[in-house]
Amino acid sequence: MVYIGIGSNLGQREDNCMASLRQLELDGIKILRQSSMIETEPWGVKDQPGFINLVVEAHTGLDPEALLAVLKNIEGRLGREKTARWGPRLIDLDILLYNSLCMDTPELTIPHRELPNRDFVLKPLFELVPELSHPVTGRSVRDMYEHLISFL
Ligand code: AMP
Repeated sequence: MVYIGIGSNLGQREDNCMASLRQLELDGIKILRQSSMIETEPWGVKDQPGFINLVVEAHTGLDPEALLAVLKNIEGRLGREKTARWGPRLIDLDILLYNSLCMDTPELTIPHRELPNRDFVLKPLFELVPELSHPVTGRSVRDMYEHLISFL
């Protein structure tokens, strides 16, 4: 079971997100559930359009590195160009959680490093799996989300 975070803040943002779901399925990643799409403020670089974000719960036989390669390939197919860190993007696909796996390599950190700090990840994740625990800290999604929004 994997949780994939999806975001877009350029062009037809909802359509870009929907297109990425079709591409995931085409690449054999079985989407079991998807959260609502939410509109969120840009993070880091403020002077850019707002984002549409959602999270999907999916099944894949791919290992994490192969899954990352598929996600990057889909970003490329959908027309994402290299942009500044935190800059505008047509589509962004991140591995948030992969079962209860913990790994940290130069290419890939799982669970996603920023998971506990981003409301645009935690809010849709909370909708899907409020009681799921972060495999490193043991904190539930509910706990992380409530903690984060208490500072907003
Ligand atoms: P981004 O700008 O969000 O597309 O991410 C840029 C890079 O983050 C990717 O090329 C990955 O090598 C790296 N990365 C590290 N951990 C993750 C993760 N959990 N999911 C996706 N990308 C990751």
